[in-house]
Amino acid sequence: MCYWRRVRNIYTRCGHGVNLPEEEIKCELINCKFSRTHPQNCPNCSQTCWQYRQYPQQYSPHIDRLCPTCSASTIR
Ligand SMILES: [Zn+2]
Ligand SMILES: [Zn+2]
Ligand SMILES: [Zn+2]
Repeated sequence: MCYWRRVRNIYTRCGHGVNLPEEEIKCELINCKFSRTHPQNCPNCSQTCWQYRQYPQQYSPHIDRLCPTCSASTIR
């Protein structure tokens, strides 16, 4: 089923984190209300289909760089 993916880049050179906009990850399940394969007029949808998205998944990739703010302020 579908879920939101939250990415927070961690820049190890300065230790700052930057949140990226949430991304919706779509599944292809016919029994997921948010899926594109799900029928528009689904009978008994609330009984047969997922009515909510999965708990958001959080990723925090570590990037060996300065964050955009810090790298912008160190340019002379
Ligand atoms: Zn889904
Ligand atoms: Zn349905
Ligand atoms: Zn920084």
